[in-house]
Amino acid sequence: MKEYDVVIIGGGVHGAGVLQAAVAAGHSALLIERKSLASGTSSKSSKLIHGGLRYLESAQFALVRESLRERSILLRIAPELVKLQAFYLPVYRDTRRRPWQLKIGLWMYALLGGFDSATRFGSVPKSDWIKLDGLQTKNLDAVIRYYDGQTDDAELTRAVVQSAIDLGGAEVAMPASFDQATLREDGVEIRYSAGGASVSCTARVLVNAAGPWAPHVAAQVDPPIFIPAVDLVQGTHIVIPFAVTAGIYYVESPTDGRAVFVMPWHGATLIGTTETPFNASPDQAHPLPEEEDYLLAVARHYFPALKSLTRADITQRFAGLRVLPAASQKAFDRSRETIFTADRDLRPRVLGIYGGKLTGWRAAAAHVMQRIASSLPHRPRRADTDQMILRRPLMNKNATFMLVPVLAMALLSGHARAEDYLSPTQERVRLTIGASRQSSTTNLQLDSSAGVQGTAVNAEDTFGLDKSDFEPKFQAMVRVGERHRLRFDYFSLDRTGNTTVLDPIIFRDVTLLPGDPLKTNLSLRMLGINYEYSILHSDRYEVAFTIGVNDTDISARGRVSTQARHVDQTEDQAGPLPTIGLDATYVLSKRFYFDARGQYLKIHVQNLDGSLGIYEVDGLYRLRPNISFGVGYNIVRADLDSTKSTESGFFNFSTKGPEVFVRVAF
Ligand SMILES: Cc1cc2nc3c(=O)[nH]c(=O)nc-3n(C[C@H](O)[C@H](O)[C@H](O)COP(=O)(O)OP(=O)(O)OC[C@H]3O[C@@H](n4cnc5c(N)ncnc54)[C@H](O)[C@@H]3O)c2cc1C
Repeated sequence: MKEYDVVIIGGGVHGAGVLQAAVAAGHSALLIERKSLASGTSSKSSKLIHGGLRYLESAQFALVRESLRERSILLRIAPELVKLQAFYLPVYRDTRRRPWQLKIGLWMYALLGGFDSATRFGSVPKSDWIKLDGLQTKNLDAVIRYYDGQTDDAELTRAVVQSAIDLGGAEVAMPASFDQATLREDGVEIRYSAGGASVSCTARVLVNAAGPWAPHVAAQVDPPIFIPAVDLVQGTHIVIPFAVTAGIYYVESPTDGRAVFVMPWHGATLIGTTETPFNASPDQAHPLPEEEDYLLAVARHYFPALKSLTRADITQRFAGLRVLPAASQKAFDRSRETIFTADRDLRPRVLGIYGGKLTGWRAAAAHVMQRIASSLPHRPRRADTDQMILRRPLMNKNATFMLVPVLAMALLSGHARAEDYLSPTQERVRLTIGASRQSSTTNLQLDSSAGVQGTAVNAEDTFGLDKSDFEPKFQAMVRVGERHRLRFDYFSLDRTGNTTVLDPIIFRDVTLLPGDPLKTNLSLRMLGINYEYSILHSDRYEVAFTIGVNDTDISARGRVSTQARHVDQTEDQAGPLPTIGLDATYVLSKRFYFDARGQYLKIHVQNLDGSLGIYEVDGLYRLRPNISFGVGYNIVRADLDSTKSTESGFFNFSTKGPEVFVRVAF
């Protein structure tokens, strides 16, 4: 039976944080996650790394101070993942809090944040209101701006786990579901299921970081341990196809005055959240129509351009569950402090994390390590978590090695729920493999090196080259950040011909004579490396500007072999052909989406005129969240015209045809 210092249940941000803190402190640790990292609340939050301005009203000063400290640590150690955003507080004639009240709150916020530059605030001059994404200005008295952090919660969670793995000593069992734990005097015996088998291991300490499932996990411990009374409260977010760009709007709901955020999110707008009491199993959390209406009312009220917005316009929706101390108060007014419970004070064997904030994951993990230190052997520390730089997982050095198992998992993942479907415009890596039926036309003329004009021929008719054949298709795309993509395309065409020459043909430095048995090969290989920048980007559509270089290699070979004559003429042309163009994606529904791209450039360098055009349109059907089947049509046209005295001639080539392919993306 494998032995660990710490075993953690739950791959949300808290589980990830404890895994990282445990290995940083020199321990061995196993994280058990039943689905995928951040598949629970940690991908369904408002994605804010914030001090919690509104907690000042309920005098939760310690929480605000700790959150502001964590915010500044995260801005430093995770600059790729946590960005400072402008927050706007519009104050209308009927807004509950007056500008002076907000300014007092922000002043206290700055004080608790140590007056660092991120705690600056002020009023937006009236002349600048026009820049606020069409915000309603009727009865608007003031707009106050301050700053807080925004992140991608799921990416942050994955980055924390990756940092733990990079450090060494961390293991992740996933998908693997915790079943039961038995307490022994000096530790815990744990059973979990993975790959259809029951696996056992031991730990000095079991950390229950199962979020809303934590009470259920705690109930599987034998002998029974204390389970705090908690309530689950559902919070829903919606994404609408409208881009707010100035920053995050922190507004009062016109329905009940609760605070709601309207935020830029991957080229669209994320609006949240609600607070709906929840009594079912955490697996059943899903956005309710009335929650969506409540959030749409916020958008319509504050942004007149959205007055006709309906539920049909929502492109993405998700619901997460807050774990709050059980109480009769409204969820909005309850404490957001994390609850930690241990099975015993001295040398705890089980420690549970209930509630908490995305912002405070690192501090919560540090607190857990402090609470369980007496149960763990002393080990040499590997790192300090406030110094460990967090990167987007794809930029890590292990990314390439992770790609293979992730791809395999993607292929094997069978049962997906609606919210597991990632919009194609958000996919980070895409691999496309397929085949196309290409019909080609090749016209060429190769003059001799002595300047004698070659014979202009159509290679299909004159050389008997296959007019159509099957060719493979390969494409890969990697998205870096939200808007930058790199795309690689590989295209090849190999054709052979076997014919008898009918009329004399001057083919570079040889003359092919009538009656010559002629064998030809014509091959074209093209590797396109393209940088794409998304000029329009939302969950529903994406339009990217493309600039690419296509390394093109064309090789033509003609052979005549008779007893009397032996001719072997080879002609190679290779070089990079640049293109510019547009690449667009349109998402019709969760299952259907379309891709189209067009790239073209005509160049003139010294004695060469060249142009390359690549056009492609594809329709895709998503079979599984990560796997799509596509059909499409592509056209490639290359025209090269050389006037160089020793190698003049032209090569005009076009190929087009239908294609079928499979795309794996995540
Ligand atoms: C609507 C909403 C908005 C929020 N917005 C913010 C915000 O803007 N900023 C902020 O700081 N905080 C925010 N929070 C709070 C924050 O999101 C949560 O505190 C945090 O994500 C909780 O993380 P967790 O790891 O405890 O739980 P989770 O992320 O839910 O992780 C629990 C994990 O345990 C796994 N699990 C469950 N049972 C088992 C089992 N038997 N075996 C193995 N694995 C299991 C689940 O699959 C899941 O992945 C928000 C919360 C909500 C609900």
